Amino acid sequence: MKTHTQEPIKKMSKIQLITFDLDDTFWDIKSTIINAEMNSRKWSEDRIGEKIEWGTFENFMQIRNELVKEDPSLEYDLGMLRKKIIAHHTKKFFKNTKDLNKFIEDAYNFFLEERHKVTFYDDVVEVLEELSSKYKLGVLTNGNADVNKLKIGHLFDFSISSMDVKSNKPGKSHFAKARELSKVAFKDTLHVGDHQVNDVLGARDLGINTIWFNLNNVKWEADNNPPLQFNKWTRFEDLVEENYGS
Ligand SMILES: [Mg+2]
Repeated sequence: MKTHTQEPIKKMSKIQLITFDLDDTFWDIKSTIINAEMNSRKWSEDRIGEKIEWGTFENFMQIRNELVKEDPSLEYDLGMLRKKIIAHHTKKFFKNTKDLNKFIEDAYNFFLEERHKVTFYDDVVEVLEELSSKYKLGVLTNGNADVNKLKIGHLFDFSISSMDVKSNKPGKSHFAKARELSKVAFKDTLHVGDHQVNDVLGARDLGINTIWFNLNNVKWEADNNPPLQFNKWTRFEDLVEENYGS
């Protein structure tokens, strides 16, 4: 994480803190997860030495929903959810829980490594580097990506996941925790993300400024009040300056 040792830099805008969503804001999540999933399945089959019946996507969603119904904390504890899904598919291959648990731990760690093999959208890292010298930066994610595993951790003052606050955006907890850690008021904070509800409405409802990352130029459908938006990271700083600069 970044440390502030130098004198405060004179702000050009009233925004002091910018918080960012991760998945589908800094990189594409679907291709990342599909790759991670494919490689993890292969890893599991190699390790066990058997073909495993993984089922269809519908089966997966059904298992997932049943697990969450049994234990609602799995809604935000994606690590435990994944471990339970791994167990669901592989427990019949193990004679004792110790071996099964060791396998689950290893399989989960393998998945997590793979899940961090992301391809940043164009210019994201360069833009974050620029922003980090002008603003406090934070991460607010519902997922389990960790910026410290992606060589960009030093650009951020803090990172908050759903596990940290035991809930998901658009709930208030991520945003409230960001305010607590940064000591920056909601009105001087800007939140940026791809999700109309989880990011934009969640933040806006608290009086946080919002900019919507709308990569594919989809229609704003969440309400009658479309937010500021951009689809290229090279546009972002100008957008902030134009709208919040003094
Ligand atoms: Mg997202």
